[in-house]
Amino acid sequence: MKKIMFLFILLFIITATQAQTIISRDPEIKQMVDEISAVRLEQYVRKLVSFHTRHNLSSRNDPSRGIGAAWNWVRSEMEKNIPASEGRLEVKFEEYTVGGPGQRIQKPVVLKNVVATLKGTDGNDDRKILISAHFDSRVQLDNDSTSFAPGADDDGSGVAAILELVRIMSARKFPATIIFMALSGEEHGLYGARHMAAKARDEKWNIIAMLNNDMIGNSGSSETLLNDNMRVRVFSEGVPAFETEQMAALRKYSSAENDGKARQLARYIKETGERYIDQLTVTLVFRNDRFGRGGDHSPFCAEGFTAVRICEYNENYDRTHKVPAVLNGIQEGDLPEYVDYEYVRKNAGLNLATVANLALAPCEPVNCGIVVSGLTNKTTLRWEVPPKGPKPSGYYILMRETWQPLWEKKILVTGTEITLPYSKDNYFFGIQSVDASGHESLTVFPGQARRPASSFK
Ligand SMILES: [Zn+2]
Repeated sequence: MKKIMFLFILLFIITATQAQTIISRDPEIKQMVDEISAVRLEQYVRKLVSFHTRHNLSSRNDPSRGIGAAWNWVRSEMEKNIPASEGRLEVKFEEYTVGGPGQRIQKPVVLKNVVATLKGTDGNDDRKILISAHFDSRVQLDNDSTSFAPGADDDGSGVAAILELVRIMSARKFPATIIFMALSGEEHGLYGARHMAAKARDEKWNIIAMLNNDMIGNSGSSETLLNDNMRVRVFSEGVPAFETEQMAALRKYSSAENDGKARQLARYIKETGERYIDQLTVTLVFRNDRFGRGGDHSPFCAEGFTAVRICEYNENYDRTHKVPAVLNGIQEGDLPEYVDYEYVRKNAGLNLATVANLALAPCEPVNCGIVVSGLTNKTTLRWEVPPKGPKPSGYYILMRETWQPLWEKKILVTGTEITLPYSKDNYFFGIQSVDASGHESLTVFPGQARRPASSFK
């Protein structure tokens, strides 16, 4: 991608009284965000609704009704972008078998995910960024596979965003690989996502981030009638679902319970998304999902991958998982006329900006640590150049007080060591790689610094 340094410059005052950092807004990312069309998003959602139901046990062979028609259509929409990608985009079904006596799906059935892989342009870069939504839908009864289940918001909105991103991003080049997943099986137990997470584990995918989009188009709640399309939630786990003893020991040693990889990704989405998307505030919810619930990111978290859920701020329970009907004067059902397409546009943009910025960024610094030898009220941080990919042009040091949820300062440095006049006892620190155009990597939360090689004489 053509890099025009500092063409559009945003001045971010990180705090009123502290250091200032200049963050560039990449004009190409801005251009891609501007290409997202609310009209197209609505067309995608209405097409998905036209299949009547996308229940996991609905017809697989009817050309215009049921889940089979839906996965065929999603696949054909994604395949339209292969020519523009000059062969870098590959679209496939990923099949898996679920169900059996005594299970929610009562007989074994083969389901299909649709997976579009946009290969990275750097052959030595094995990083993968995943973005998902689910195309299956349901109504009240688990096994009702014939009633009208429009699933416009849940999760037609997420699938529409994925299709729009494939369309726009396939024509561009990114060093890292981007995998767009339209999943089935979600409504009966996250089966499509479980299948993909197990595959990623078995094939040892180097996933740096997984963004699950599930319900990103409803802007009013059923109880309050508040209309708010200016806020979206990002859910991220705190203490990771997957932890080895060694990882748990390091977490406790460095007080990292609020600084796991999913939490760093959530903060990254907020910063990057708000950099590019106007009139959208990202609210970080510091839990894996809604109270006691889960989503397609959960199986990825369980396998130790960095995964979060993006979701509308307000849910409308008159509509979710209901057969469309007017009851007591209230229209129930997840119908396309109740989706706020301008809101879907903004949320799709949030995904695009995040994924693009990350796919263009250099790899994360390695061996990031805080020097602990000697008692001092200063903090020395040390890290090493990432072994893969282009050398970063610099690094951002992030800082915040320990009780703060978000990074408060962002300081650009060029070496691989810095001493700051702030105590490691009173602040948390993070380190990012950054290129000349301002694309930053995810944040690495440092442990204890290794002794430099020169001290082992
Ligand atoms: Zn859903």
